[in-house]
Amino acid sequence: MSIFADLGLSNPVLKAVSKAGYEEPTEIQARAIPLILEGRDVIGASQTGTGKTAAFALPVISQMIPSTKPQCLILEPVRELAAQVEEEIRKFSYYRPLNVVLLHGGVGYQAQNDGLNSKPDFIIATPGRLLDHLSRGTLSLESVRFLILDEVDRMLDMGFLPDVRKIVDQCTRDRQTLFFSATMPPAIQTLANWALKEPAEVEIGSRQSPAETVAHAFYPVAMDQRDELLLALVEHTEFKSLMIFTRTKKEADTLFSLLKMRSNADVTVLHSDIKQSDRTKALTGFRSGEFDIIIATDLAARGLDISGVTHVINYRVPENAEDYVHRIGRTGRARQEGDAFTILSGDELEFAKAVERFIDKKIPRKKLENFDYIYTALLDDSPPKPVRVRRGGGGKRKRR
Ligand code: ADP
Ligand code: MG
Repeated sequence: MSIFADLGLSNPVLKAVSKAGYEEPTEIQARAIPLILEGRDVIGASQTGTGKTAAFALPVISQMIPSTKPQCLILEPVRELAAQVEEEIRKFSYYRPLNVVLLHGGVGYQAQNDGLNSKPDFIIATPGRLLDHLSRGTLSLESVRFLILDEVDRMLDMGFLPDVRKIVDQCTRDRQTLFFSATMPPAIQTLANWALKEPAEVEIGSRQSPAETVAHAFYPVAMDQRDELLLALVEHTEFKSLMIFTRTKKEADTLFSLLKMRSNADVTVLHSDIKQSDRTKALTGFRSGEFDIIIATDLAARGLDISGVTHVINYRVPENAEDYVHRIGRTGRARQEGDAFTILSGDELEFAKAVERFIDKKIPRKKLENFDYIYTALLDDSPPKPVRVRRGGGGKRKRR
């Protein structure tokens, strides 16, 4: 077992870590921090919720001396994630305050320009808005010594590769570059070969496995009863804080209306068509406990750290198996226990199998007690019948 004091971090950072209540470093922290302090480029991969933010933030803050030019740039794929990391940076630099500016879309430029004028040490940004500032000349990256790409896989998935390349190109070669992600698909190696210098790779556990503290279950049901089952699950589950993931924005809006009407819980909704001030309200309210339930698209699937999420429900099986790992990674964080329920209908069996293959684990099929199932074929242990048979059972198959 290692302790923070042995990792070579500065005293103000060690004090901030203990103020945050961290007793011992997580594995990724114990391994990545000394390498980063040595000045190495690092590719860090570990499961969601294992403290990757501190793994890069602590050693970087340790080495930073307040100055008048941006020294560290952190790129995040999603606005809410950027805002979360900003909070963490402020927390870890508490005893040696550094100037931090947050740049993301969906909000005005004035406050960001003011922030840039105040000579920030840290810039935390999403790629689009950062490029806007670069092209307006409100910012230069020449002085950046530390470049951090967080959630790199997500960044690539979201089509940010060209933007990321442009941004990396504007930083000096004489910099330290760090890549962090829960998953590290091969596409990232190509980017890493280009952006990093002889990186040390730190990989904890299997890149594809969700936290072990999460209990998984599939709840098979006919397509027509999907909404009823969701309502029943919400009603019969003792959750403290619940995230419901949908595949589409429309589905999220529909469920939002449904739950507002039919459940007693305080519900909110988050997706990319909602205006930024309402996105912020939704997330802040969910974090503070004002809302018990948040319904979200995969926008909220990655990286967001919301303490005390006791349950995740997937309204549909994610089409991309990797998204499953990210979504359920919103619970079971920091070694807490969590439950992940996935509603499963006949048209999703392939996706369900893909998820099981991806996490290399069979997910138990469960039946909700006292729920009036009209159709239970999927609950049988025998191999499921072909989808064709079930279509006649009244299931609506939507084309997407
Ligand atoms: P990741 O980026 O790996 O998904 P985060 O950096 O968001 O994970 O951290 C997940 C949670 O764990 C956060 O609430 C964070 O404050 C907490 N955490 C991180 N490191 C430690 C530690 N060493 N001890 C206790 N809690 C920690
Ligand atoms: Mg993270």
